[in-house]
This record gives sequence, structure tokens and C-alpha cells, in this order.
Amino acid sequence: MAEPQDQMDTPPASPLPEMRFEGIGVSPGVAKGLTFLYGKPEENVGKRSITDKDIDSEINRFENALVQTRQQIIEIQKQIAQAIGNADASIFEAHLLVTEDSTLIEGVINILKTEKVNVEFALVQFAQIYIGIFEKREEEYLRERAADIRDVTNRILRNLQGKEHFDLRKLQEPRIVISYDLAPSDTAVMDRKKVLGFCTDIGSRTSHTAIMARSLDIPAVVGLHNASAQIAPNQVALVDGYEGLLIINPTEQTLFEYGQLEVKRHDIEIQLDKLHDLPAVTTDGGRIALHVNIEGPDDIPAVLKCGAEGVGLFRTEYIFMNRSNLPSEEEQYNAYHEVAQQLFPRPVIIRTLDLGGDKFLSHFEVPQEMNPFLGWRAIRFCLERTDIFLTQLRAILRASELGNVKLMYPLISSKQEFCQANEILQIARQELEEQKKGFNASMEVGAMIEVPSAAITANHIAEEADFFSIGTNDLIQYALAVDRVNEKIAYLYDPAHPAILRLISEIIQAGHNHGIEVGLCGEMGGDVTLTPLLIGMGIDEISMNASAIPVVKKMIRSIGRQECENFAREMLKLSSGEQIWEHSRQVVLAKAPELLELG
Ligand code: PEP
Ligand code: MG
Repeated sequence: MAEPQDQMDTPPASPLPEMRFEGIGVSPGVAKGLTFLYGKPEENVGKRSITDKDIDSEINRFENALVQTRQQIIEIQKQIAQAIGNADASIFEAHLLVTEDSTLIEGVINILKTEKVNVEFALVQFAQIYIGIFEKREEEYLRERAADIRDVTNRILRNLQGKEHFDLRKLQEPRIVISYDLAPSDTAVMDRKKVLGFCTDIGSRTSHTAIMARSLDIPAVVGLHNASAQIAPNQVALVDGYEGLLIINPTEQTLFEYGQLEVKRHDIEIQLDKLHDLPAVTTDGGRIALHVNIEGPDDIPAVLKCGAEGVGLFRTEYIFMNRSNLPSEEEQYNAYHEVAQQLFPRPVIIRTLDLGGDKFLSHFEVPQEMNPFLGWRAIRFCLERTDIFLTQLRAILRASELGNVKLMYPLISSKQEFCQANEILQIARQELEEQKKGFNASMEVGAMIEVPSAAITANHIAEEADFFSIGTNDLIQYALAVDRVNEKIAYLYDPAHPAILRLISEIIQAGHNHGIEVGLCGEMGGDVTLTPLLIGMGIDEISMNASAIPVVKKMIRSIGRQECENFAREMLKLSSGEQIWEHSRQVVLAKAPELLELG
């Protein structure tokens, strides 16, 4: 269970006035500590006036930074060429051209001379205008140029500022991280002992940054609008990930109230810990498999500790992040094998690479897209980059030899796409046979159902798939047309929307009609309020972050399947998500009210 997050000496109440910022609580828990402002270089550029005699030295600094940038790009290009071949490294040619772009160079120098400002400020000013011009163009190749200019000018800026992009791994003291935004790759490197909690101005509950925070058990609040601009470093802060609150300079009274709540929650968690070895079974004997969503071998202890029966979603893309090359087959095999072996005989469902959307590799440039969640993502990327896909499939197949590994493909949109992925899997099997390497020839292969077209044609896909796992994070964004990472429209992102319940119910029916099991691995699986509904709709397996397992298990053990079925039938008739939430809350209140205290 989550432990109280007060891992540093509790900072005293502050004599300064308390400030409260409301956002979206995305990872439960309360953390107290001092703030650390984390930002991308361009977010921290100050304007400094210069005199005529400084102009030459500023231009000189600019020229040196351009040379340094060029050298760095050539170095990265070499590394990538060695790792994955010249074709991909050639993308860096475009970056090199930016360092020689006379419009950019003259534009910056012109601002510097006429406005008499420091070169960093001139660079950011000009880059914004220049990037804007390319971004507005219809032609895709010109829009891609905007991404190149942004990347390169950021690099020039870092070199001017004499600092590498700060990496949260380097945080020395435990802090509350405050940022405008965080990428999943930023969150992935967070050390729970150093990052007590984090808050961002943008983001939403199902962004991968938020999902990662839950996985790491770090209290987090996102969607705080412009909070980061109003906070200074080293201020006393309290992050309430349950209620979505960031409190700066908390008063004695606030700290006292939070202390009381913490004790109450901790008592409930101790009770839930007692369910560790008990199965998730309803009062009338209905079994639901409870599994954990993981990102890599580091999560194995959390799986064992929470009392889950296995892994329902291994997001393999994290193995590809925060590095300067692609992981080899051997490296991937080691990671998959370690998870499978340490959790044996528990099942481990490994999902093939789901890059794109909000997950990118810093070293692997993909063209900037207008709608990345609708673009070259997940299985679409893998079906084109079969070299990368085959390497991963061979590694997963080899790890399957133990017998407890299953594989699933993300973002399947039709039966044909599923079959196409299986054809590549067949090639991987043949390659391993030729190399006389072992694998489980009858490893189960499933489809994630997270695209509305797949949900609607689930009956066809069920003819080919060995199991389904419903990815509600994406299914909701695509079915309701609500970008899952946009805090402005987060109020429309509703897992209990009648359309979503109907889709989930129909996917489960389609799977069961074909005799296959249907699981769910989106974030709604960890929301205990919706557990009775999911049981009632017939879900066989639910996969979630480890800290939600005891809570959901308790709910399952407090209710009968039959009553859930009756309840779900009634809910499926309703036309409003709000009513469905209210009825669902009433069920939890009647059966296990203490669970609602845990967020
Ligand atoms: C989902 O979409 O529900 C899912 C589990 O996958 P991800 O969040 O990684 O897109
Ligand atoms: Mg998904």
C-alpha cells in the first residue's frame, strides 16, 4: 500500500499567506516538501539589456554555440548510424542545415543589435516567429521543418546557457517538482525518494505522465493552469493527489487537518493489506483476475507486494526511452525474461511497442504530426518498421519459453490489421526456429480493443485473437473525441459515459460469444467506484496500477456478481454519465464506504 510520503523532515508551516491551486488529482497520496521548479530551457530565458560594446561578444557567444551544436548533432548522428543504420541517422542532416540557416542566424543577430538584448532572448524571440511561419504551412515537409528548428534552437539555447537539459535523475534533495509540463520520459526517470510529488500546469488523468506517477506511487496533480508561473523555488508545498490540490505555504491548521486524514487513510490501508493472499472473488463465487500494469522489471516488487495475480499490461515502450539507441533483442529479452521468471507462474501480458501519441524517443526522430494520437502510432509504426517490430517479437517469444507470457498488440483497428501483425509474428517464430532458439509455440496472442472500429467489429477480431484487453484510456478519447492529455476538455473525458459502457459491454459479449476472455487495462479499471459495473458487465480480468489492487479486491469481495449484473443492466439503460456515477457511488457506499476515502 502507499506509504505516507513525508520522507523528508516535515517543513514547518510557513508564515507567508497560504495559496491554493486546484487541478486534477492523478496519483493519490499527500506529499509535503520544498518546491523545485523544473522547466524546459526556453521556459527560463530572461531578458537582459546590453550595450553597443557587448554586441560583438554576444555574437561571438552565438557563433560558438552554433559550432558546439553542430558537433553535438554530428556525434548523435554517428551513434544512431551505428545503432540502427544510416537511413534514420539521415534525419539529422536536416538538423545540421538549421545550424547553417542564414535566415535564422541573421534574424537573431538583427534582434540582438536593434533591440540590444542578450542573445538567448533574441534567439527565443526569433525562433518563435520563425517556427510559427512553418507550422502554419499546409505542406507537411514544411511543418516538419518547424519541429527541426524547435529542436535545434533549444539545443543552441542550452549550449548558450552552458547547461545540459536538466534531468530529474540529477535531483539531489527530496523535492516537490513544479513544472509547466512533464513528458512521460521525464516521469520515467523519477526517483521516488527524490521526487516527493509533482504538479504540472497542463495534462490530464490518462496522460502517460499521470499513469507513470501512479505506477511509481508519487502523489501528483496536473491541469493547474498557470500555477508554475506563480511559484518560487524552495517554497513549502503540500500536494494532495486525492483532491487535486497544491497548497503553497500551508498553515498550521492545514497541516493539522492533513495529518488527521493521513492517519485515517493509513488505518484503512492496514486493513486492506490483510487481503493480500486472498483471491478477488465475489460473495457468490465469481472470480475476477486482478493484474498490474507495469513498465519494466523495476515494478516486480510492487506486483508481488500488492497481492495481484499477475501482469495485465507490460508497457514495453519504457524500455526504449531515456537512452540514445534502440534496445537490442538481447537487452529486451533480458527484461521480459526477468519479469516472466520472477513472477512465474503468474501470467504476464506483454504489449508490443506503443510509441507515438504522447510517448516519443528523444533519439528517434519521427516527423511531427498534427494529430499524433491519430497518427503513426503503436501497431501502425511497428507494421512499417518491421525491423524494430521483429526484434521485439523475437525477444518476447524467447521469454515466452517459460510458459506464462502472453502477447498483445496495441491500437488494433480491424481484424486485417491483427492478422497482419500475426504474419510478422510468424516470421519471428521461423527466424527463432532457424536459430534453434526456444519459445512457447502456443503462446496466447491478444488484441487491445481501444479503437472504436475494433470495438464495433470485435466479433470479427475475436475469430483470430486468443483474448481481448480493453484499453479504455484510448477507447474513451477516440469514442468521445476528447484528447486524453488536454486538461481544457478533461471534463468531457467520462469513463461512465453511456456510449463507453455500451461499447465495453458489447466488446465483452463479442469476446464471450467466441469463447475468449476479456480483460480491461485502462485507468478506469483502478477506479473502485466503477468496479461493480465492470463485474456486472462480465469482465474476466482487470489490470491497474499496483496501489489500486487492494481497494478493488476489497470491493469485489464485498459484493455478489448477480447483484452487479442486475445493477449493470439498469445502468446501461441510463442516458447520463452523471447519474451512472451517482448510482455507482451509492453501491460502494452501501458495501464498503471506507474505500471512497482512498480516492
Ligand atoms: C489504454 O489505452 O487504455 C491503455 C491501457 O494503453 P495506454 O494507456 O498505454 O495507451
Ligand atoms: Mg492505449
